[in-house]
Amino acid sequence: MSTKSTMMNVSLSLPHMVERIGRVFPHVEVVSRMPDKSLHRTNYGRIHRRAKQLASALVNEGIQKSECVATLMWNHYAHLEAYLGIPSTGAVIHTLNLRLSPEDIAYIVNHAEDKILIIDDVLLSMYEQFRDQVSFKKVIVVPLTGDPVDECYTNYEDFIASGDPDFCYPDIDENDPAGMCYTSGTTGRPKGVVYSHRSTALHSMAEAMCDSLAISQHDTVMPVVPMFHANAWGLPYTSVLVGAKQVLPGPFLDAESLLDLYESEQVTLSAGVPTIWMAIKEAREAEPDRWKTAPNMRMAVGGAAIPESLFRAFDKFDMKIIQAWGMTESSPIATLGLLKNNLTDIDEDDQYKYRIKQGVPCPFVEVRIIDDEGQEQPWDGESPGDAELRGPWITGSYHKDEGAEDKFSKDGWLKTGDVCNIDSEGYVKLTDRTKDLVKSGGEWISSVDLENAIMDHPDVIEAAVIAVYHPRWDERPLAVITVKEGRQVTKEDVHLFLKDKFAKIWLPDAVETLEEIPKTSTGKFMKLKLREMYKDWKWS
Ligand code: AMP
Repeated sequence: MSTKSTMMNVSLSLPHMVERIGRVFPHVEVVSRMPDKSLHRTNYGRIHRRAKQLASALVNEGIQKSECVATLMWNHYAHLEAYLGIPSTGAVIHTLNLRLSPEDIAYIVNHAEDKILIIDDVLLSMYEQFRDQVSFKKVIVVPLTGDPVDECYTNYEDFIASGDPDFCYPDIDENDPAGMCYTSGTTGRPKGVVYSHRSTALHSMAEAMCDSLAISQHDTVMPVVPMFHANAWGLPYTSVLVGAKQVLPGPFLDAESLLDLYESEQVTLSAGVPTIWMAIKEAREAEPDRWKTAPNMRMAVGGAAIPESLFRAFDKFDMKIIQAWGMTESSPIATLGLLKNNLTDIDEDDQYKYRIKQGVPCPFVEVRIIDDEGQEQPWDGESPGDAELRGPWITGSYHKDEGAEDKFSKDGWLKTGDVCNIDSEGYVKLTDRTKDLVKSGGEWISSVDLENAIMDHPDVIEAAVIAVYHPRWDERPLAVITVKEGRQVTKEDVHLFLKDKFAKIWLPDAVETLEEIPKTSTGKFMKLKLREMYKDWKWS
């Protein structure tokens, strides 16, 4: 007789997490900063009750399983209620990126066939700009400012009040859709990634693990990364899973406002893209004694490469950077850059060499490197190729099956478009986006390595490197930088600073100083725009 598993097949779904905070962690606080900068305080007990009321009201409104309810909101308690309430009905929360153009938002809303919109009152003027291009059954407005809500909309508080706090969850299969995010779409139209209940539950468990972000009920978690960017890297769900306090910063993302909140709420873990941390570094260096952050504060940083100088600076502030690599398609965490136990004894400088890499794959996530000829590369820390991913929280297709032709390998792995290598310790190192590499006289130059090295220069704040057409070399690197107030950094300064780190042909042939480097809707350097700005560049 063959042996069969005797374990129960219980669905890994969000209603379980919603119920658990209501029963086990009702007293745990959720603090949100409002548009007038005041702090709104609630707790998981109330969030649990209101999420169920929201679910009930949505069902009364006729929302069906697998239909999308869109949100256009900052990070705050009502967005968290939507994160929990919408999927509890079997419907899908579709978070809209408020930094996109009205045309792009309208395209995404129509493509996803969103039925209802929940929106912050402070964002209504944005909705006005695309309302003619979309048709929601209902627009529900969250009155963050306390101002009366116009009668043509539904007031979120009235909507919640109409729902039943004893809402009965429908049966949800763990593979049912729970949430949807569109990719940032730097090339072509954005594509929809649909997270399942299972992928969300498993990603949350992996993120909470001791050897990843080690999130527990003892933590106070503040996602600076917006809740519309890959589910704020899963942090709201992971915090709910473990019962961690959440601090949600609302619309204020400048360094001083963030540091004030870190101090007043004694945040123990925060997360965001490097540009946020660069601003925080500047602020802390300018006023070293002003803020007392929690001891051993951790900061998950990802979304773009991080210069070594940033790790070193934050170590001095007792704020530890943990690098994470992933993308909207990977929920988003695929690798984490913690130092492995066997590396904790090595020389401190060598430790940074590992910490600046993108990290080792999370449990259940597989990474492989495939070269131009389709060959899998060895883990030798040298052989580069396209990184491909497979795992339970990696997308296997896009909404409506778009983009399948070039984004997935024949055997079903996700092609990330990131050029990486993996070393014998298992650390993935990203050298570039495929499309951002500079090809000079047949040699590949990594824009990311150059950027990171230039950003280590004490007078440079930010640096982005792009390939610019060159009649002799095909392409040459051009660096665009921003510098500290009152400082000047020339091409010669940059060459002097980099000369021991790179071969001569890697050094950028031009260094242009800008007031600001254009950024994408998720805070990354907008290389498309930079390439456009310098497309007619004449090399002297
Ligand atoms: P998104 O889907 O907007 O989150 O963007 C995902 C992309 O951001 C990845 O494919 C990488 O190119 C980049 N990225 C994410 N994390 C990192 C990291 N730690 N270092 C360098 N690039 C990163």
